[in-house]
Order: sequence, then C-alpha cells, then structure tokens
Amino acid sequence: MDIEDTLLMIPGPVKVAPRVLRAMSRPMISHRSGDFSAIYSDCCALLKPFFETANDVVVMTGSGTVGMDAAVASTIGHDDKIVTISNGKFGERFTEIGERYGRAIPVKFDWGTPFDLDKVEAAVEDGAKAVAMVHNETSVGLTNPAKEVGEIARKHDALFIVDGISSIGGNDFQTDEWGIDIAITGSQKALAVPPGLAVVAVSKRAEERFLSQSRSYYADLRAHLKSARKSQAQTPFTPAVSLFFALQEALHMAEEEGFAARRARTAQQAESVRVAAKALGIELFPKVNQHSHYSNTVTAMKMPQGVSDDKLRGGMKKRGVVVSGGQDLIKGKIFRIGTMGMCSSGDILRTIQTLELILAQEGKIASCGAGVEAASRVLYK
Ligand code: PLP
Repeated sequence: MDIEDTLLMIPGPVKVAPRVLRAMSRPMISHRSGDFSAIYSDCCALLKPFFETANDVVVMTGSGTVGMDAAVASTIGHDDKIVTISNGKFGERFTEIGERYGRAIPVKFDWGTPFDLDKVEAAVEDGAKAVAMVHNETSVGLTNPAKEVGEIARKHDALFIVDGISSIGGNDFQTDEWGIDIAITGSQKALAVPPGLAVVAVSKRAEERFLSQSRSYYADLRAHLKSARKSQAQTPFTPAVSLFFALQEALHMAEEEGFAARRARTAQQAESVRVAAKALGIELFPKVNQHSHYSNTVTAMKMPQGVSDDKLRGGMKKRGVVVSGGQDLIKGKIFRIGTMGMCSSGDILRTIQTLELILAQEGKIASCGAGVEAASRVLYK
C-alpha cells in the first residue's frame, strides 16, 4: 500500500495537513534570531486558547513525555509525595516518573474503569505535594474527571499536574477553570503537527513551589520559562526549528476554524464512531459514569469475539486504513480509532466502511452499510 494513500486513524501521530508539511520545508533560521522569537511568541499566544489558560506556556523539544518529566522533575524532591492516579498505560507512566524523582503514592484502578474519587482524596490528604493524572487515557479511550480531582488537590493544597496529551484541543479541557497548575500536551495529537514537541502551561502557584533546582537539566521548567520570557522569546537549548514552523501553521489553521468549532467537530466525529460501533454490534471498552466519559479523541472498542487482532487490524491495514491495537495487558483485546486534529468526515466513513468489510468477511455482520449509515447520520446532521 502506497504510504501517501494510507489513512492514519491512530490516536497520534495523526494526519498532518499539506499546509503544515509545506511549512516544515522552509529554509532553516537561527534559533537566536528575531524571526524565531516572533514564531515562538505567536505559537504561545495561540496555544493559550487551546489550553484555555492565561498562564504562561512553553514549548519544549521532545515528545509529550518530556513535558510529564519536566512537571515532576521541577516540583518533586526526593522526599516529596506525589499521588499518581492511573487507569491505563499513561497514568502508570506518571507513577514511574514519580518514583524516579520522589515518593510516588500510586492510586490504581483497573484499566478502563473510572476513578473512585474517595480513594483519590484519601491518598492526597496524607501530605501530598502534588497530584498527577491523565485527563484522556489514550490506552483505554476514557476521559477522566480533571475538574473533580482539581477540587481535591486545591482542598488539600497540593499542586495539580495533568497530562492532557491526547486531550487538549480535542476534548473539553479548561486549565484555569479546573485549577490545573501544570498542563501538558504533545504536538502529534490534536495539534496535528508531527511528533517532537511538548507544550506545557505553568501556573504562578506551580512556579512558587518549584524546587530550587530542577532534578532534570534539560526538562527544567524554570529555565524554559526564563528563556520564553526574554524580550525576544527563546528556548534554553536548540529547538526543533522545523517543528516550530509546523506548529505555527497548524495553530493558524485551528484559529481559522475556530478553537471551539474544532472541539465541537472533534466531539461530533467521535460520536459518529461510537454510533457506528453500536450499529455494528461492537462494544466500547471503557466503563463510564457521571464523572468519566467516552473520549472524544480516541474510541476504544472490544475486539469482536472470535476475530483476531491480525485479522481485524491487519485486514484494515491491507486496505489502507491504519488503526491502533491494545497496549500491554489489553493487547489483542481491543482496537482503537483516533479522531482528532484534521480528521475529516470522509476519513471516518472510509475507516468504518473498511471495518465493515472485515466484519462481513469474518461472518460478524450479514451485510455492509449499517455502520457507515449510522456514522454519516451524525456527521451530516
Ligand atoms: N500521555 C498520553 C495520554 C498519551 O496519549 C501519550 C502518547 O500516546 C503519552 C502520554 C506519551 O507521549 P509521547 O509518546 O509523545 O512521549
């Protein structure tokens, strides 16, 4: 299959618009020039509405994880407690990072099940300096209750660190309203830029509680903020300049569409995938409740009984559509469709149509069409 004709429907990296790809082919500039500073400042100004924040934003070179690393390394000392909540792979990553720098207090839930907020509060009230959680748990397609955990963090005077990597710009995400002290995203998700940049929004409260020296030399938020605040905004180390070109172009595209319109479109697209799944008899993987919702950026579905991962995802790939599988302990048990950034209605219909072909081939549905029809009813209502 020709790579240029392959449809990437995974929850990041996502499809990148030709306009953004072209921006990356611009000639190189000095990262210590006024031209670079203007691009960096423009990006920061446009990132604020993405994060719904008035806080300062820094862009770091590295994948989303460098933002998670920076948040913990800059705030958690050897003896500091950090409550790390997990119900999937990326929550567990926060525990690993917390253990690396300080005293992690993991609050674990089964993958794909909602947080028990009483358990979270019991852990936080025991003197935690910070609480860290993932808003949109990509591995299981579940959106976790950031607002409610933020209230617990405030009540017990703990910093609130949120991985919004597969959320910001796609799901509803209100940094300031929810009291998030450090919010993180990655370029390859709803921003629709290639991988390689992490964006971090930092509150004044977080800055006041920074360690006198970050535990990481590179992932040092104080250093990144100091450089970004120079009269000519800079980064402390050489940034991935071409990715900044891409980020600026992608943010202008989001601004043209409208940030709220982008989020509403993303929500509608995820809903179309969910109704298509229902029409095809496919069960969604996560469990939801009044605080935890199906993700609007990635839909995780149970693998239909008797259909192997190889048959389903392998068959779709052969037909030019790439979707994700399950990770770690749910490998082979689920598959996931990402719908964020520049995903179009046509992309979704092609994906559902290809899924139907495989299901029909495997004897799971008698004929094709019900999924596409259900999805298009949502997409074109
Ligand atoms: N957190 C979440 C919720 C993610 O979805 C991902 C990537 O898929 C990460 C963290 C890790 O980001 P990266 O692979 O960019 O380091």
